Amino acid sequence: MSSRILFRCGRLFTMTPGQAPLDDAGILVDADSGLVLDVAPYRALSGSVVEERVDYSEHTVAPGLVNAHTHLELSHLVGKIPPGGDFTDWVKKLLGLPLYELDETLLTAAVKDCRESGAAFVADVGSRNPSLVAKACDAHGLGLLHFAEVLGFARDGQAPALWPEPFLQYDEQYLQARVALAGHALYSTHPTALQTAKAWDKAASKPYSIHLAEHKGEDELLRTGKGEFAELLLGRLLPRDFRAPGLSPAAYADALGLLDEDTLAVHCVHLDDTDIRILAERKVTVCLCPRSNARIGVGRAPWEALRSAGIRICLGTDSLASNSDLNMWSELRFFLENFPTYCTVAEALTWVTSIPASALGIDGSYGSLEPGKRFQYSIVPADLAARDETSLKPRAGMV
Ligand SMILES: [Zn+2]
Repeated sequence: MSSRILFRCGRLFTMTPGQAPLDDAGILVDADSGLVLDVAPYRALSGSVVEERVDYSEHTVAPGLVNAHTHLELSHLVGKIPPGGDFTDWVKKLLGLPLYELDETLLTAAVKDCRESGAAFVADVGSRNPSLVAKACDAHGLGLLHFAEVLGFARDGQAPALWPEPFLQYDEQYLQARVALAGHALYSTHPTALQTAKAWDKAASKPYSIHLAEHKGEDELLRTGKGEFAELLLGRLLPRDFRAPGLSPAAYADALGLLDEDTLAVHCVHLDDTDIRILAERKVTVCLCPRSNARIGVGRAPWEALRSAGIRICLGTDSLASNSDLNMWSELRFFLENFPTYCTVAEALTWVTSIPASALGIDGSYGSLEPGKRFQYSIVPADLAARDETSLKPRAGMV
């Protein structure tokens, strides 16, 4: 018989739809396969024959967290761009940094931090160093989906090659298991390339990711072709003859056919009511990166309106070029502190577990704790676990 471990949890959020949190719960795990065998009140499992017992009876346990948006290959830029300024300033500073000189020690430290702060899985957008990213994630038991990022225009102004060169080393099996394509953004990348990447993902039943409506300059550039951000990009990243589509970012993405239930729209800070309706109708999942948005001064996403429209929300840290760490609890804590409205701890947990797992197509293994799934868990920090429905209500004057 294979060896089994019994975990005792003071409180357990399984994140199985419809299941309320369980007090004094047990999780029986098959140590060899790493799969959950049973979840039940502890008293029902306490008599099980097990090799090991782990006591978390003083803690609140949740599934391992899913960081739906980061760029691990930028981990060497930690602390290089101080907070403040606006998005255009940030891009200018970023372009002046050694983007390609990945430091393996700093990458490993970032992955370790991610894992130790409760993340079980990351969706990592990159184009330069997938092998080093995978090596670091594998070494620390962090699940990984590479979003291979298509970015830019070819020299002749046409669509660039679909696959970033480092991804050409992978065989079909690796691509199928671990890779999807992502478009960088509407303002940076040939529309045909964005569409081709989406089509590849669709044919392979993969999620698609794109930075969308992150900052005012993007909105202005796409609606009018003008503005400080347009001036920065024209003749550099954007061809001189670039013509603005005359649409908002969300409307343009929709016109290109990029939005559907398998699309992760990242940031979504600058949306009007029509944009929100489009995202809701297309059943897009929105990945919010609240600390990154605040740090580089792009604004605050219309979270309440997204939620009211029934749009699925999840959280990502973005990279260490625009965040101080990759700790998903810190991301959630910041979010709750700055979006004070009615929500339960259970709902808040959906944004970092079940919703991103479903959006990324990994919910067969991640996102909830139930028999047959991979045993991956996190300990909910005491301050967050203690926030009951009453304490999550709006503070006076902040409704
Ligand atoms: Zn990003």
